[in-house]
Amino acid sequence: DRNLSEADPEVRSIIDSEKNRQFNSLELIASENFTSRAVMEAVGSCLTNKYSEGLPGKRYYGGNEYIDELETLCQQRALAAFHLDGKKWGVNVQPLSGSPANFEVYTALLNPHDRIMGLDLPHGGHLSHGFMTPKRRVSGTSIYFESMPYRLDESTGLIDYDMLEKTATLFRPKLIIVGASAYPRDFDYPRMRKIADSVGAFLMMDMAHISGLVAASVLADPFEYCDVVTTTTHKSLRGPRGGMIFFKKDPVLGVDMESAINNAVFPGLQGGPHNHTIGGLAVCLKHAQSPEFKAYQFQVVSNCRALARRLTELGYELVSGGSDNHLVLVDLRKAGLDGARVEKILDLASITLNKNSVPGDKSALVPGGIRIGAPAMTTRGFTEKEFVETANLIHEGIQLTLKAKKSVQGSKLQDFLKAVESAEFPLKDSVAA
Ligand code: PLP
Repeated sequence: DRNLSEADPEVRSIIDSEKNRQFNSLELIASENFTSRAVMEAVGSCLTNKYSEGLPGKRYYGGNEYIDELETLCQQRALAAFHLDGKKWGVNVQPLSGSPANFEVYTALLNPHDRIMGLDLPHGGHLSHGFMTPKRRVSGTSIYFESMPYRLDESTGLIDYDMLEKTATLFRPKLIIVGASAYPRDFDYPRMRKIADSVGAFLMMDMAHISGLVAASVLADPFEYCDVVTTTTHKSLRGPRGGMIFFKKDPVLGVDMESAINNAVFPGLQGGPHNHTIGGLAVCLKHAQSPEFKAYQFQVVSNCRALARRLTELGYELVSGGSDNHLVLVDLRKAGLDGARVEKILDLASITLNKNSVPGDKSALVPGGIRIGAPAMTTRGFTEKEFVETANLIHEGIQLTLKAKKSVQGSKLQDFLKAVESAEFPLKDSVAA
Protein backbone atom coordinates (compact mmCIF):
# COMPACT_ATOMS: atom_id res chain seq x y z
CA ASP A 1 0.00 0.00 0.00
CA ARG A 2 1.38 3.42 -0.94
CA ASN A 3 1.76 6.25 1.53
CA LEU A 4 0.03 9.59 1.02
CA SER A 5 2.98 11.33 -0.66
CA GLU A 6 3.09 8.58 -3.30
CA ALA A 7 -0.64 7.99 -3.66
CA ASP A 8 -1.74 11.61 -3.71
CA PRO A 9 0.99 14.26 -3.67
CA GLU A 10 -1.59 16.99 -4.26
CA VAL A 11 -3.44 16.32 -0.99
CA ARG A 12 -0.12 15.69 0.81
CA SER A 13 1.06 19.10 -0.25
CA ILE A 14 -2.13 20.84 0.93
CA ILE A 15 -1.82 19.12 4.33
CA ASP A 16 1.81 20.19 4.57
CA SER A 17 0.87 23.78 3.78
CA GLU A 18 -1.86 23.75 6.42
CA LYS A 19 0.54 22.29 8.98
CA ASN A 20 2.99 25.00 8.14
CA ARG A 21 0.29 27.65 8.55
CA GLN A 22 -0.77 26.25 11.92
CA PHE A 23 2.77 26.15 13.27
CA ASN A 24 3.89 29.51 11.93
CA SER A 25 0.99 31.61 13.13
CA LEU A 26 -0.32 32.85 16.44
CA GLU A 27 -3.46 30.72 16.73
CA LEU A 28 -5.92 32.68 18.84
CA ILE A 29 -9.29 31.34 17.72
CA ALA A 30 -11.07 30.54 20.98
CA SER A 31 -12.68 27.34 19.67
CA GLU A 32 -9.45 25.82 18.34
CA ASN A 33 -6.61 23.86 19.88
CA PHE A 34 -3.73 21.56 18.95
CA THR A 35 -4.56 17.99 19.81
CA SER A 36 -1.83 15.52 20.73
CA ARG A 37 0.17 13.16 18.57
CA ALA A 38 -1.42 10.22 20.47
CA VAL A 39 -4.95 11.46 19.66
CA MET A 40 -4.01 11.93 16.01
CA GLU A 41 -2.56 8.42 15.84
CA ALA A 42 -5.86 6.97 17.07
CA VAL A 43 -7.87 9.16 14.66
CA GLY A 44 -5.71 8.10 11.74
CA SER A 45 -6.04 4.39 12.55
CA CYS A 46 -7.90 1.33 11.21
CA LEU A 47 -10.79 2.18 13.56
CA THR A 48 -12.16 4.25 10.66
CA ASN A 49 -12.91 1.05 8.74
CA LYS A 50 -15.51 -0.42 11.07
CA TYR A 51 -19.32 -0.19 11.10
CA SER A 52 -20.87 -0.50 14.58
CA GLU A 53 -24.42 0.87 14.58
CA GLY A 54 -25.92 0.52 18.05
CA LEU A 55 -24.25 0.57 21.46
CA PRO A 56 -21.66 -1.72 23.11
CA GLY A 57 -23.13 -5.24 23.37
CA LYS A 58 -26.10 -4.29 21.15
CA ARG A 59 -24.79 -3.87 17.62
CA TYR A 60 -26.33 -4.32 14.21
CA TYR A 61 -23.07 -5.66 12.72
CA GLY A 62 -20.67 -8.48 13.59
CA GLY A 63 -16.98 -8.10 14.41
CA ASN A 64 -17.43 -5.50 17.12
CA GLU A 65 -15.59 -7.19 19.98
CA TYR A 66 -12.82 -4.56 20.12
CA ILE A 67 -15.05 -1.64 19.19
CA ASP A 68 -17.30 -2.54 22.14
CA GLU A 69 -14.25 -2.55 24.39
CA LEU A 70 -13.15 0.83 23.02
CA GLU A 71 -16.53 2.58 23.31
CA THR A 72 -17.08 1.24 26.85
CA LEU A 73 -13.63 2.49 27.86
CA CYS A 74 -14.37 5.87 26.29
CA GLN A 75 -17.67 6.15 28.19
CA GLN A 76 -15.99 5.23 31.50
CA ARG A 77 -13.23 7.76 30.93
CA ALA A 78 -15.77 10.47 29.99
CA LEU A 79 -17.63 9.98 33.28
CA ALA A 80 -14.36 9.89 35.25
CA ALA A 81 -12.97 13.00 33.53
CA PHE A 82 -16.03 15.00 34.63
CA HIS A 83 -16.11 13.42 38.13
CA LEU A 84 -19.47 11.73 37.54
CA ASP A 85 -21.03 8.76 39.32
CA GLY A 86 -21.97 6.16 36.70
CA LYS A 87 -25.08 5.27 38.70
CA LYS A 88 -26.45 8.79 38.29
CA TRP A 89 -25.06 9.86 34.92
CA GLY A 90 -24.67 8.21 31.54
CA VAL A 91 -22.93 9.42 28.39
CA ASN A 92 -23.24 8.92 24.66
CA VAL A 93 -19.86 9.40 22.92
CA GLN A 94 -21.14 8.94 19.36
CA PRO A 95 -22.31 12.47 18.36
CA LEU A 96 -20.41 13.49 15.25
CA SER A 97 -19.87 17.03 16.50
CA GLY A 98 -21.35 19.76 18.71
CA SER A 99 -24.26 20.86 16.51
CA PRO A 100 -25.55 17.30 15.92
CA ALA A 101 -25.20 16.58 19.67
CA ASN A 102 -27.41 19.58 20.44
CA PHE A 103 -30.02 18.68 17.85
CA GLU A 104 -30.06 15.13 19.20
CA VAL A 105 -30.92 16.47 22.66
CA TYR A 106 -33.72 18.62 21.23
CA THR A 107 -35.27 15.74 19.32
CA ALA A 108 -34.87 13.45 22.37
CA LEU A 109 -36.64 15.74 24.83
CA LEU A 110 -38.99 17.87 22.73
CA ASN A 111 -41.79 17.56 20.23
CA PRO A 112 -41.62 19.53 16.97
CA HIS A 113 -42.44 23.21 17.62
CA ASP A 114 -41.91 23.00 21.37
CA ARG A 115 -40.42 26.20 22.79
CA ILE A 116 -36.76 26.71 23.63
CA MET A 117 -34.62 29.56 24.98
CA GLY A 118 -30.87 29.93 24.40
CA LEU A 119 -28.45 32.87 24.44
CA ASP A 120 -28.86 34.98 21.29
CA LEU A 121 -26.10 34.53 18.71
CA PRO A 122 -25.22 38.26 18.45
CA HIS A 123 -24.83 38.22 22.25
CA GLY A 124 -22.47 35.23 22.33
CA GLY A 125 -24.73 32.19 21.85
CA HIS A 126 -24.30 29.46 19.23
CA LEU A 127 -26.26 29.01 16.00
CA SER A 128 -27.52 25.65 17.21
CA HIS A 129 -29.17 27.25 20.27
CA GLY A 130 -32.03 28.52 18.10
CA PHE A 131 -30.69 31.50 16.18
CA MET A 132 -33.12 33.38 13.96
CA THR A 133 -33.32 36.86 12.50
CA PRO A 134 -36.50 38.90 12.11
CA LYS A 135 -36.54 37.74 8.47
CA ARG A 136 -35.29 34.17 8.59
CA ARG A 137 -35.13 31.08 10.78
CA VAL A 138 -31.45 30.46 10.21
CA SER A 139 -30.63 27.24 12.06
CA GLY A 140 -32.41 23.89 12.03
CA THR A 141 -33.13 24.49 15.70
CA SER A 142 -35.22 27.58 14.97
CA ILE A 143 -36.91 25.90 11.97
CA TYR A 144 -38.12 22.86 13.87
CA PHE A 145 -38.60 24.44 17.31
CA GLU A 146 -39.98 27.79 18.46
CA SER A 147 -37.06 29.86 19.69
CA MET A 148 -37.06 32.94 21.92
CA PRO A 149 -33.46 33.88 22.62
CA TYR A 150 -32.39 35.60 25.87
CA ARG A 151 -29.74 38.31 25.85
CA LEU A 152 -27.05 40.17 27.75
CA ASP A 153 -27.57 43.31 29.76
CA GLU A 154 -25.79 45.66 27.35
CA SER A 155 -24.63 47.96 30.13
CA THR A 156 -22.67 45.19 31.90
CA GLY A 157 -22.04 42.60 29.18
CA LEU A 158 -23.43 39.94 31.55
CA ILE A 159 -26.39 37.62 30.94
CA ASP A 160 -29.58 39.44 31.91
CA TYR A 161 -30.97 36.74 34.22
CA ASP A 162 -33.83 39.00 35.42
CA MET A 163 -35.06 39.55 31.88
CA LEU A 164 -34.60 35.85 31.10
CA GLU A 165 -36.78 35.01 34.08
CA LYS A 166 -39.50 37.45 33.01
CA THR A 167 -39.47 36.22 29.41
CA ALA A 168 -39.48 32.56 30.47
CA THR A 169 -42.55 33.19 32.63
CA LEU A 170 -44.38 34.50 29.56
CA PHE A 171 -42.91 32.25 26.86
CA ARG A 172 -42.93 29.06 28.98
CA PRO A 173 -40.13 27.16 27.21
CA LYS A 174 -39.79 23.40 27.55
CA LEU A 175 -36.00 23.67 27.36
CA ILE A 176 -33.57 26.34 28.52
CA ILE A 177 -30.02 26.20 27.19
CA VAL A 178 -27.00 27.48 29.12
CA GLY A 179 -23.69 27.89 27.31
CA ALA A 180 -22.09 30.12 24.71
CA SER A 181 -19.50 30.56 21.99
CA ALA A 182 -18.39 34.06 22.90
CA TYR A 183 -19.09 34.80 26.56
CA PRO A 184 -16.08 35.63 28.73
CA ARG A 185 -17.73 34.87 32.09
CA ASP A 186 -18.91 31.82 34.01
CA PHE A 187 -22.62 30.94 34.29
CA ASP A 188 -25.02 31.25 37.22
CA TYR A 189 -26.28 27.64 37.18
CA PRO A 190 -28.32 27.86 40.42
CA ARG A 191 -30.23 30.83 38.97
CA MET A 192 -30.80 29.06 35.64
CA ARG A 193 -32.04 25.94 37.49
CA LYS A 194 -34.47 28.05 39.47
CA ILE A 195 -35.82 29.69 36.32
CA ALA A 196 -36.14 26.31 34.54
CA ASP A 197 -37.96 24.80 37.54
CA SER A 198 -40.33 27.75 37.78
CA VAL A 199 -41.65 27.02 34.27
CA GLY A 200 -41.21 23.23 34.22
CA ALA A 201 -38.41 23.25 31.62
CA PHE A 202 -35.44 20.94 31.09
CA LEU A 203 -32.09 22.63 31.74
CA MET A 204 -29.31 21.84 29.27
CA MET A 205 -25.72 23.04 29.35
CA ASP A 206 -23.70 23.22 26.14
CA MET A 207 -20.18 23.39 27.60
CA ALA A 208 -18.44 23.07 24.21
CA HIS A 209 -16.09 26.01 24.73
CA ILE A 210 -15.26 25.41 28.35
CA SER A 211 -15.37 21.61 28.78
CA GLY A 212 -11.61 21.41 29.45
CA LEU A 213 -11.96 24.09 32.13
CA VAL A 214 -14.92 22.23 33.65
CA ALA A 215 -13.02 18.90 33.68
CA ALA A 216 -10.16 20.63 35.52
CA SER A 217 -12.63 22.27 37.95
CA VAL A 218 -11.38 25.74 36.98
CA LEU A 219 -15.00 26.83 36.41
CA ALA A 220 -18.28 25.99 38.15
CA ASP A 221 -19.68 22.48 37.70
CA PRO A 222 -22.74 22.40 35.39
CA PHE A 223 -23.52 18.78 36.33
CA GLU A 224 -24.73 19.84 39.77
CA TYR A 225 -27.63 21.73 38.23
CA CYS A 226 -28.36 20.58 34.67
CA ASP A 227 -30.36 17.63 33.36
CA VAL A 228 -28.28 17.14 30.26
CA VAL A 229 -24.84 18.43 29.22
CA THR A 230 -23.45 18.49 25.69
CA THR A 231 -19.97 19.30 24.50
CA THR A 232 -17.69 19.31 21.53
CA THR A 233 -14.43 17.49 22.14
CA HIS A 234 -11.97 19.58 20.11
CA LYS A 235 -11.92 22.94 21.85
CA SER A 236 -10.52 23.47 25.37
CA LEU A 237 -10.80 19.68 25.94
CA ARG A 238 -8.09 19.28 23.26
CA GLY A 239 -9.42 16.06 21.72
CA PRO A 240 -10.41 15.04 18.17
CA ARG A 241 -13.38 16.74 16.44
CA GLY A 242 -16.51 15.19 17.91
CA GLY A 243 -19.29 15.52 20.46
CA MET A 244 -20.68 13.96 23.64
CA ILE A 245 -24.00 14.05 25.47
CA PHE A 246 -24.16 13.45 29.22
CA PHE A 247 -27.60 12.66 30.65
CA LYS A 248 -29.13 11.98 34.05
CA LYS A 249 -30.02 8.33 34.54
CA ASP A 250 -33.15 9.06 36.56
CA PRO A 251 -36.20 10.23 34.61
CA VAL A 252 -36.59 14.01 34.30
CA LEU A 253 -40.09 15.52 33.79
CA GLY A 254 -41.31 11.97 33.14
CA VAL A 255 -38.76 11.30 30.38
CA ASP A 256 -36.38 8.32 30.51
CA MET A 257 -33.33 10.34 29.54
CA GLU A 258 -31.05 7.40 28.78
CA SER A 259 -33.22 5.76 26.16
CA ALA A 260 -34.49 9.08 24.76
CA ILE A 261 -30.95 10.41 24.18
CA ASN A 262 -29.45 7.15 22.95
CA ASN A 263 -32.32 6.63 20.49
CA ALA A 264 -32.09 10.21 19.26
CA VAL A 265 -28.40 9.66 18.39
CA PHE A 266 -29.06 6.30 16.70
CA PRO A 267 -31.28 5.58 14.87
CA GLY A 268 -32.79 9.08 15.24
CA LEU A 269 -30.15 11.23 13.59
CA GLN A 270 -27.00 9.20 12.96
CA GLY A 271 -25.91 5.90 11.51
CA GLY A 272 -22.54 4.27 12.18
CA PRO A 273 -20.38 5.88 14.89
CA HIS A 274 -17.00 7.30 13.85
CA ASN A 275 -14.90 4.80 15.77
CA HIS A 276 -11.61 6.50 14.93
CA THR A 277 -12.96 9.63 16.65
CA ILE A 278 -14.12 7.59 19.65
CA GLY A 279 -10.59 6.12 19.82
CA GLY A 280 -9.04 9.59 19.79
CA LEU A 281 -11.57 10.79 22.34
CA ALA A 282 -10.74 7.93 24.72
CA VAL A 283 -7.07 8.97 24.53
CA CYS A 284 -7.98 12.61 25.20
CA LEU A 285 -10.18 11.67 28.17
CA LYS A 286 -7.39 9.66 29.80
CA HIS A 287 -5.15 12.70 29.56
CA ALA A 288 -7.96 14.93 30.88
CA GLN A 289 -7.65 13.15 34.24
CA SER A 290 -3.93 13.91 34.62
CA PRO A 291 -2.30 16.60 36.79
CA GLU A 292 -0.66 18.07 33.65
CA PHE A 293 -4.07 18.62 32.07
CA LYS A 294 -5.30 20.42 35.18
CA ALA A 295 -2.17 22.59 35.21
CA TYR A 296 -2.71 23.35 31.51
CA GLN A 297 -6.28 24.54 32.11
CA PHE A 298 -5.19 26.79 35.00
CA GLN A 299 -2.51 28.21 32.71
CA VAL A 300 -5.15 28.89 30.01
CA VAL A 301 -7.17 31.01 32.43
CA SER A 302 -4.13 32.77 33.83
CA ASN A 303 -2.88 33.54 30.31
CA CYS A 304 -6.26 34.88 29.32
CA ARG A 305 -6.29 37.18 32.34
CA ALA A 306 -2.82 38.47 31.45
CA LEU A 307 -4.05 39.16 27.91
CA ALA A 308 -7.16 40.92 29.21
CA ARG A 309 -5.12 43.06 31.63
CA ARG A 310 -2.66 44.15 28.96
CA LEU A 311 -5.40 45.00 26.45
CA THR A 312 -7.13 47.07 29.14
CA GLU A 313 -3.84 48.87 29.92
CA LEU A 314 -3.56 49.64 26.21
CA GLY A 315 -6.96 51.33 26.40
CA TYR A 316 -9.26 48.71 24.90
CA GLU A 317 -12.74 48.07 26.14
CA LEU A 318 -13.50 44.42 26.92
CA VAL A 319 -17.07 43.12 26.94
CA SER A 320 -17.97 42.57 30.63
CA GLY A 321 -14.69 44.27 31.59
CA GLY A 322 -12.54 41.14 31.61
CA SER A 323 -12.61 37.35 31.57
CA ASP A 324 -13.18 34.37 33.89
CA ASN A 325 -12.39 31.80 31.25
CA HIS A 326 -10.35 31.17 28.11
CA LEU A 327 -11.46 34.08 25.93
CA VAL A 328 -11.80 37.84 25.75
CA LEU A 329 -14.12 39.89 23.58
CA VAL A 330 -12.70 43.24 22.54
CA ASP A 331 -15.12 46.03 21.62
CA LEU A 332 -13.38 48.02 18.88
CA ARG A 333 -16.12 50.52 18.15
CA LYS A 334 -14.74 53.28 20.35
CA ALA A 335 -11.37 52.85 18.66
CA GLY A 336 -13.20 53.72 15.42
CA LEU A 337 -12.89 50.22 13.99
CA ASP A 338 -14.72 46.95 13.40
CA GLY A 339 -13.71 43.31 13.77
CA ALA A 340 -13.71 42.46 10.07
CA ARG A 341 -10.93 44.90 9.13
CA VAL A 342 -8.81 44.01 12.13
CA GLU A 343 -9.20 40.27 11.48
CA LYS A 344 -8.01 40.81 7.90
CA ILE A 345 -4.94 42.86 8.82
CA LEU A 346 -3.92 40.48 11.61
CA ASP A 347 -4.33 37.55 9.23
CA LEU A 348 -1.68 39.14 6.99
CA ALA A 349 0.63 39.13 10.00
CA SER A 350 -0.16 35.45 10.73
CA ILE A 351 -2.17 36.30 13.83
CA THR A 352 -5.34 34.27 13.56
CA LEU A 353 -8.46 35.31 15.46
CA ASN A 354 -12.03 36.08 14.50
CA LYS A 355 -14.32 39.04 14.13
CA ASN A 356 -17.22 38.82 16.55
CA SER A 357 -20.36 40.75 17.26
CA VAL A 358 -20.48 42.65 20.53
CA PRO A 359 -23.64 43.74 22.38
CA GLY A 360 -25.31 46.67 20.65
CA ASP A 361 -23.91 45.90 17.18
CA LYS A 362 -26.07 47.02 14.28
CA SER A 363 -24.59 44.73 11.64
CA ALA A 364 -23.64 41.06 11.91
CA LEU A 365 -21.63 41.30 8.68
CA VAL A 366 -19.30 44.00 9.97
CA PRO A 367 -19.31 43.28 13.70
CA GLY A 368 -17.72 45.65 16.19
CA GLY A 369 -15.42 43.27 17.99
CA ILE A 370 -12.85 40.51 17.95
CA ARG A 371 -12.76 37.30 19.99
CA ILE A 372 -9.38 36.14 21.28
CA GLY A 373 -8.82 32.73 22.88
CA ALA A 374 -5.95 31.32 24.92
CA PRO A 375 -6.24 27.49 24.65
CA ALA A 376 -4.24 26.85 21.48
CA MET A 377 -1.19 28.99 22.25
CA THR A 378 -1.16 27.71 25.84
CA THR A 379 -0.82 24.22 24.37
CA ARG A 380 2.15 25.57 22.44
CA GLY A 381 3.82 26.62 25.71
CA PHE A 382 2.84 30.28 25.99
CA THR A 383 2.75 31.72 29.52
CA GLU A 384 1.53 35.11 30.80
CA LYS A 385 4.66 36.85 29.45
CA GLU A 386 4.02 35.71 25.87
CA PHE A 387 0.36 36.65 26.12
CA VAL A 388 1.34 40.20 27.15
CA GLU A 389 3.53 40.27 24.04
CA THR A 390 0.61 38.89 22.01
CA ALA A 391 -1.57 41.77 23.26
CA ASN A 392 1.14 44.20 22.16
CA LEU A 393 1.22 42.64 18.67
CA ILE A 394 -2.57 42.80 18.38
CA HIS A 395 -2.38 46.46 19.42
CA GLU A 396 0.15 47.08 16.66
CA GLY A 397 -2.17 45.37 14.18
CA ILE A 398 -5.09 47.50 15.30
CA GLN A 399 -3.00 50.67 14.89
CA LEU A 400 -2.07 49.54 11.37
CA THR A 401 -5.72 48.85 10.59
CA LEU A 402 -6.62 52.39 11.60
CA LYS A 403 -3.89 53.70 9.33
CA ALA A 404 -5.02 51.47 6.48
CA LYS A 405 -8.65 52.49 6.91
CA LYS A 406 -7.70 56.15 6.56
CA SER A 407 -5.66 55.56 3.42
CA VAL A 408 -8.33 53.55 1.56
CA GLN A 409 -10.82 55.46 -0.57
CA GLY A 410 -14.44 54.77 0.33
CA SER A 411 -15.84 53.51 3.58
CA LYS A 412 -17.09 50.11 2.42
CA LEU A 413 -15.55 46.96 3.89
CA GLN A 414 -15.23 45.46 0.38
CA ASP A 415 -13.10 48.41 -0.79
CA PHE A 416 -10.89 47.98 2.23
CA LEU A 417 -10.40 44.23 1.76
CA LYS A 418 -9.70 44.65 -1.96
CA ALA A 419 -7.16 47.38 -1.31
CA VAL A 420 -5.39 45.38 1.39
CA GLU A 421 -5.18 42.35 -0.86
CA SER A 422 -3.82 44.24 -3.85
CA ALA A 423 -0.09 43.86 -4.40
CA GLU A 424 0.42 47.61 -4.70
CA PHE A 425 -0.91 48.29 -1.26
CA PRO A 426 2.17 49.29 0.75
CA LEU A 427 0.70 48.12 4.05
CA LYS A 428 0.73 44.50 2.97
CA ASP A 429 4.53 44.42 3.22
CA SER A 430 4.77 46.39 6.40
CA VAL A 431 2.21 44.13 8.09
CA ALA A 432 3.86 40.94 6.89
CA ALA A 433 7.20 42.21 8.17
N1 PLP B 1 -21.85 24.67 20.84
C1 PLP B 1 -21.04 25.72 21.07
C2 PLP B 1 -21.21 26.51 22.33
C3 PLP B 1 -20.08 26.07 20.13
O1 PLP B 1 -19.30 27.13 20.33
C4 PLP B 1 -19.95 25.29 18.95
C5 PLP B 1 -18.94 25.58 17.93
O2 PLP B 1 -18.22 26.48 17.90
C6 PLP B 1 -20.83 24.23 18.77
C7 PLP B 1 -21.76 23.94 19.73
C8 PLP B 1 -20.86 23.44 17.49
O3 PLP B 1 -19.89 22.56 17.35
P1 PLP B 1 -19.56 21.93 15.90
O4 PLP B 1 -18.90 23.03 15.14
O5 PLP B 1 -18.68 20.82 16.28
O6 PLP B 1 -20.85 21.50 15.31
